[in-house]
Amino acid sequence: MPTPDIHAVELAETAAAAFRQVFGAEPEGVWAAPGRVNLIGEHTDYNEGFVMPFALPFYAAAAVSKSETWEFHSTYGNGDTVRADTVGSSVDDGVSGWAGYLAGVAWALNEAGYPVSPVRVAIHSDVPHGAGLSSSAALECAILIALADLHGHEIDRAEAARIAQKAENAYVGAPTGVLDQSASLLCTEGKVMFMDCRDLSREQVPFDLASENLTMLVIDVNAPHRHADGEYASRRADCEEAARQLGVPFLRDAPKHARLEDDRLNRRLRHIITENERVLDTMKILKGGTVAGIGELLTASHASMRDDYEISCTELDSAVDAALEAGALGARMTGGGFGGSAIALVETAAAAKVEAAVIEAAAAKGLRTPRIFVARAAAGAHRVA
Ligand code: ADP
Ligand code: MG
Repeated sequence: MPTPDIHAVELAETAAAAFRQVFGAEPEGVWAAPGRVNLIGEHTDYNEGFVMPFALPFYAAAAVSKSETWEFHSTYGNGDTVRADTVGSSVDDGVSGWAGYLAGVAWALNEAGYPVSPVRVAIHSDVPHGAGLSSSAALECAILIALADLHGHEIDRAEAARIAQKAENAYVGAPTGVLDQSASLLCTEGKVMFMDCRDLSREQVPFDLASENLTMLVIDVNAPHRHADGEYASRRADCEEAARQLGVPFLRDAPKHARLEDDRLNRRLRHIITENERVLDTMKILKGGTVAGIGELLTASHASMRDDYEISCTELDSAVDAALEAGALGARMTGGGFGGSAIALVETAAAAKVEAAVIEAAAAKGLRTPRIFVARAAAGAHRVA
């Protein structure tokens, strides 16, 4: 077993302690899966385009044992335990709410030909919820690798990402792309992962901020995604309609200079075409050995999401504008939009100034105080104990 992430080990100990307390026994093992941030390539995944996430050092740890019935516990809030008999037989097996992310994975594994029997699980996660950092995928991927290991299923990680995505789409009912689960399962420490969402082929690209005296700030604007589900579905529908009008299977296949008469669809199209180009340009710059050079691409990506894709919001724009005014090399919203988080690439010497500027700007506009932390590219999902 490769060396587990140090922080994942701490979380795993808490998950195991919760397991002992709730179920009165030792877990057979503990598995952890991280949240993620997407460096660039937003809403391109379901258009079969390019994405570039890295794993964050926030993990969902799952302490798990085989059992007679399904029992799901999470330490979140005051702690909650959900019990069920018939998990895995259909999408309507009666498990709803947060435990649906776990039951959904059991169902999706069964559907994919990897049968699983009941387990008890205790989850302890420090991935912030609803902050656009994929707390949901972290839950799904932690239980997925746990169930696979406990049942002796060897599942390729790219296939596992599709299975976890299916749990979120068909069981939970959130129409998200494959980015989050792929990032959680496939990212590697110290690297940002370039992925082609058509075939999930990928390349791990070195992402060494420290050697260039750079820092990546993640700014959770503390405005949980409002209207996110409906708006997300409507962007997907716009992309499908745009692809239909152009006669291509997905917008990934749209010619560079494609135009549509309808103004809204044309702007959606332009975002996807230019965003895919920006991912490829980012890749070129990183492979050329510099991170600082990607700043302008990040900022251009934000403008495209704000103006063409219309998925930003006051809080995200405030954070991005304030970071740039205070000297950030680049900044953009990240994740689905309408709240969640932004990222800012800053010279390490300027990080404190940028943080203060972002917080001051929010206060001046009467917005909630953002939570800011320094990101590092952490390890993907792995067994911890
Ligand atoms: P995101 O993935 O961006 O954090 P989502 O809305 O996709 O936001 O997923 C958040 C949901 O995931 C929560 O509402 C909750 O149901 C579930 N969740 C996340 N973390 C935990 C946890 N530690 N315990 C229980 N449920 C969790
Ligand atoms: Mg999610």
